[in-house]
Amino acid sequence: MIDLESARARVLDGCVALAPVRVPLAEACGLVLAEVVEADQLLPPFANTAVDGYAVRAVDVAGASEDAPARLAVVETLAAGAASSRVLGAGEAMRIMTGAPIPAGADAVVMVEDTDAAAHGEVVRIRRPVNPGDAVRPAGDDVRPGDRLFVPGDVLSPAHVGVLASLGRLDVLAHPRPRVGVISTGDELVEGPIPLQPGQIRDSNRITLLALVEAAGATGIDLGLVRDDEMAIRAAFVAAAAGCDAIISSGGVSMGEFDFVKRVLDEVGRMNWMQVAIRPAKPLAFGTIDGTPVFGLPGNPVSSMVSFELFARPGLRRLAGHHPDELVRRTVTAVAGEPLRRSSDGKTHFVRVVADNVDGSYVVRSAGGQGSHQLAVMAAANALVVLPDGDGAAAGDEVAVLLLG
Ligand code: AMP
Ligand code: MG
Repeated sequence: MIDLESARARVLDGCVALAPVRVPLAEACGLVLAEVVEADQLLPPFANTAVDGYAVRAVDVAGASEDAPARLAVVETLAAGAASSRVLGAGEAMRIMTGAPIPAGADAVVMVEDTDAAAHGEVVRIRRPVNPGDAVRPAGDDVRPGDRLFVPGDVLSPAHVGVLASLGRLDVLAHPRPRVGVISTGDELVEGPIPLQPGQIRDSNRITLLALVEAAGATGIDLGLVRDDEMAIRAAFVAAAAGCDAIISSGGVSMGEFDFVKRVLDEVGRMNWMQVAIRPAKPLAFGTIDGTPVFGLPGNPVSSMVSFELFARPGLRRLAGHHPDELVRRTVTAVAGEPLRRSSDGKTHFVRVVADNVDGSYVVRSAGGQGSHQLAVMAAANALVVLPDGDGAAAGDEVAVLLLG
């Protein structure tokens, strides 16, 4: 058996960040940036008003009060998008809407709530003084030319793509979303509502793994259900390696007599067949076909999910260009709400649990049976407790937890 960290190191060694491409901003959120973004302009590009109200000279309203409002002549109305061509003079105001440029001569904006407009609106009464600069958003208040805004490795968020759009950018250089082919193998598998023949089960791994791929920020490509047939398996993997950035298969990596996955992968790829000191998900095949990473995950539904979490997700995140420290989900500390017992077997156990946030700290309880076929228990769980080799945890013990999703 190989320990978890060593197995994961082998996986990460076989995964390198995909070459950056130009991506339209609308598709870039969640991707990892591959360029330095330096501002070449001011944001906002011009001084503008933060409120709806009246642009004024602060000096003209210095003595204003409820009892003695300042009276100013309203000389123009400025909507957002409309710039005034005149200079505001003494005793004048301009009605102005949020985002409109501050007219020359004005140095503050009085919010509409502090004013009363007379009939026909040609005079406005200002009931409060303002200081120069009040409600004015200066040009460059957010971004100035030469600012280094974003650097390679930054993960593009909705705000990042918004800033890029503000700078006039249509696209950005980023690592592409990995395209990940997902294959199920096994003669016992069928899909859909057709009645099961003796010995048949329905394929659940493919739809689950496709969902996990998408949740990891990659694009899942459904490569279907492949029979335990050497030719069919070879054709599926060779085509997948040509058309995808990574391949995930499930089934056929334990030593069943009719599992041709091993024979085929050894023939077309360079594979590591591992027995990892974990439970569930002990068997793991990882390698490359013509440089394309291949994850051969175990067939048992919970095992394939745990194996995805521990190996495939970090590998896919590396392909996507994420920082080395951001590949593996961090554990958090929780308290066992009940005994989580196990026996010593040289393996780290991943226990399916429900983690409840009680006053800011997590309390975990078993989600149910811990068999690697019990997928409904996995559905009920929202976390995995990492139990090191030993006899497990007593109620009240601190445990390390991977919060899923
Ligand atoms: P294997 O790794 O092929 O020996 O399969 C181990 C167990 O997982 C067997 O009980 C299989 O029937 C089951 N299994 C394999 N592939 C799938 C799948 N795609 N969906 C659901 N169960 C599967
Ligand atoms: Mg099988």
